[in-house]
Amino acid sequence: MSETPMMKQYHTAKKNHQDSILFFRMGDFYEVFYEDAELCSRVLGIALTARNKGEKAVPMAGVPVKSLDTYLTKLIHQGYRVAICEQIQDASEAQGLVERDVVRVITPGTVTEEAVLNEKSHNFLLAIAPQKKLIGLAWVDISTGTFEVHEVPSEFLADEIARIDPAECLVPDKKRDTLIRVWESDLTITEIIKHQKAALTYRPDWFFAKSNAKRTLEEHLQVSSLEGFGCEDMTVGLGAAGALFHYVKETQKSTLPHITKIVRYNAQEKMLLDAATRNCLELTKSLRSSKKNTLLHVIDKTQTAMGGRLLSDWITSPLIVLEKIRARQEGVLELIEHSDQHQNICKVLTSIQDIERLCARIASKRADARDLLSLKNSLQVLPNLQQELHSFSSLIINNILQNLVSLASLTDLLEKAIHPQPKPTLKDGEIIRDGYNEELDKLRQVQSSGDKWLEDFQKREVESTGIPSLKVSFNKVFNYYIEVTHTHSHRVPQHYIRKQTLKNAERYITAELKEYESDVLSANDRSKDLEYKLFQEVRDEVQKYLRELRNVAEAIACLDVLCSMATVAKQRNYVCPQLLNNNTLEIEEGRHPVLEATLDTPFIANNLHMGPGREIMIITGPNMAGKSTYIRQNALIVLLAQIGSFVPAKKVKIGIADRIFTRIGSADEIAKGRSTFMVEMIETANILNNAKASSFIALDEVGRGTSTFDGVSLAWSIIEHIQKKIGARTLFATHYHEMADLADIYPNVLNYNVAIQEWNGQVAFLHKILEGSADRSYGIEVAKLAGIPQQVIHNSRKILTRLERHAIDVRNFTGKACRDSGENLFSMVGEDLIDTLSNLNIEALTPIDALNLLKELQVEA
Ligand code: ADP
Repeated sequence: MSETPMMKQYHTAKKNHQDSILFFRMGDFYEVFYEDAELCSRVLGIALTARNKGEKAVPMAGVPVKSLDTYLTKLIHQGYRVAICEQIQDASEAQGLVERDVVRVITPGTVTEEAVLNEKSHNFLLAIAPQKKLIGLAWVDISTGTFEVHEVPSEFLADEIARIDPAECLVPDKKRDTLIRVWESDLTITEIIKHQKAALTYRPDWFFAKSNAKRTLEEHLQVSSLEGFGCEDMTVGLGAAGALFHYVKETQKSTLPHITKIVRYNAQEKMLLDAATRNCLELTKSLRSSKKNTLLHVIDKTQTAMGGRLLSDWITSPLIVLEKIRARQEGVLELIEHSDQHQNICKVLTSIQDIERLCARIASKRADARDLLSLKNSLQVLPNLQQELHSFSSLIINNILQNLVSLASLTDLLEKAIHPQPKPTLKDGEIIRDGYNEELDKLRQVQSSGDKWLEDFQKREVESTGIPSLKVSFNKVFNYYIEVTHTHSHRVPQHYIRKQTLKNAERYITAELKEYESDVLSANDRSKDLEYKLFQEVRDEVQKYLRELRNVAEAIACLDVLCSMATVAKQRNYVCPQLLNNNTLEIEEGRHPVLEATLDTPFIANNLHMGPGREIMIITGPNMAGKSTYIRQNALIVLLAQIGSFVPAKKVKIGIADRIFTRIGSADEIAKGRSTFMVEMIETANILNNAKASSFIALDEVGRGTSTFDGVSLAWSIIEHIQKKIGARTLFATHYHEMADLADIYPNVLNYNVAIQEWNGQVAFLHKILEGSADRSYGIEVAKLAGIPQQVIHNSRKILTRLERHAIDVRNFTGKACRDSGENLFSMVGEDLIDTLSNLNIEALTPIDALNLLKELQVEA
């Protein structure tokens, strides 16, 4: 079948981008063909049409160029890749077919369009380079220039991916099925990434080769060694970083000048939060995957997008080095003390735009005049910030001040060059300010003096022809013309050339008018071209400042986060926690940061006293009493303290935790194909295998996913293991009141319960944590509160009474004697039965008694 040259051009472009949807520019539309058209029609809800008819018909769909962002957003969010094939030649210059080429491939991890991105979240592309037990990780946010590398033992891969939360992962093709041990099971890299819901891209192994990577990075960063970035000794990490560069070059068709440094992720300074803990504490996403009612949501009072992103980074990577945390605390404290300056700084911050993302657009030459104007407006307020910060003495704020260089010459250039109300397009003029360029001013003069000239010309013509109604006008088709009504046509002079006849009038031109017209029109065209050229020069000049601008952006982000922490501390009455390097954990009148901000009723504060000799706290109490809230609030207070924030309490002393582990027993099933209970046990195993004496563990209802006997036994042994082998500060919430017996055996296990008020078979929750254990579960009372029918409540009370008659003392089967003899819970139940039988006096038993006893035993079994 013979094809038109244009379709041939399409196929050539598509051949090199098989895995992307090819947007093929045709005038004001991007057209998609064949399967791409069917896919777009389905996903974007746009009409599927056909190019040609009959046998030659080709499925086709199109989106207007000006709505590209809207359609891109939908496609990228669903994980598709879009290759943009542009007309790279001016249609008027083309002889025959206009040249076209793919100028960019947009993928979930490389998108920079503002409409697709969330301003307060990073959009990371993560490269993963596995080599035996070590994994190289490198991640970049092209929209901001953030670029980090890390090397981790393979068992932490899943947690690291969860922390980085990438939009797209790059994996060596041959390693896609490499098995990684994730706690107790083996998963392929592909499975781990899919579980994280990131887009997945395979690339050949040479992308990840370490040998070239080092040179690529050194060349890009313009350094002779990576030592200055602390990356010289890295291996697989550099391989991953190199892969990012290859991929970015492939998709963006450019290198990334705004990436001015590579940061080695410092695992010695930062806490590794496993995926289950991050989810369970609802740090940046709630259990329902929403951003509302998360820790980030309630403590984010940042004014800039840069600050918002940094706060999110801080929350997901708390610090474990005392001095580093103190440095942040000192900054917050100082801002609180300098209240007026704090308020002024917050106000100034509101007028600062996203400098990081502006830099990215400048570097990729996609910044328009409005972007440069935003940059100028942001830079212009820096002196105000400097002034406010002068009297501060903390190290962290002084560092900020040093990086807040005001870049006066750049600001000045932008002030002089950029039009104060620039057009959004670059080729239609009105982007350069008057007075910036002499030639441009002259051309503009020609255009503006034109109005006066036309006025004079019209006056002269009226006088010379004696036609009072003669008018000189302009339209886009004929440009300038003289209009004379038919009544006066006999007076029209010879040298008038007729152009058009209307119903009532004739339109003419003259040689003089034509000459004027060409002067003005060419001045107009020339000035637009000149403006575009000048604009590009200015943008290239700004590009020379990318390094300084990125430093400024980082300083602003840090200042913004510290200000946000100070604001929250003031508004919500948080205190500065005292940090120590031991196992103390004392919280006076602690509150749950999220619940107290969202609850309509007052929040009940609670204390916590842990430390050497008081390591394990068992909290019993019925469902709905407030156990989860209490243990999570304490985990969140520890976490907040370790990001440098103040905390919701009256007085707090915290020994730094190397890790925080939390686990809730009743979470929804997360990993596919496993039961909730299995997930719960795998995650608990992770805690038991990785926690140290300096860790903080919060377990909520662990063991609930199985039968009561199994559950109590597991919970009991878990606590014993922590008590004997780990020694970590542990909060264990359970509604199994039997667990309280542990405190009788181990002196560092403490019993607490949540206060309940009971009268007339009714319960009320007081949400107050008290010393001592709960005597009962109150499950039936809670069920009654929930509206379970009266008859069901009545029957369950009867069953409970019968069960309690045969209650088993947990200590009997979990104590030492029991373990030594290898007995378990089930053999104890059997023994109960055997006891009853062997104690029977058969001689005295009547047949009817025997039958009754049998029936009773059957009911109990
Ligand atoms: P449990 O884990 O014991 O089943 P939760 O911690 O889930 O109970 O608490 C149940 C509800 O009780 C919470 O959703 C909250 O509305 C309320 N609550 C819990 N603790 C407090 C508190 N300290 N102050 C006020 N309300 C609380």
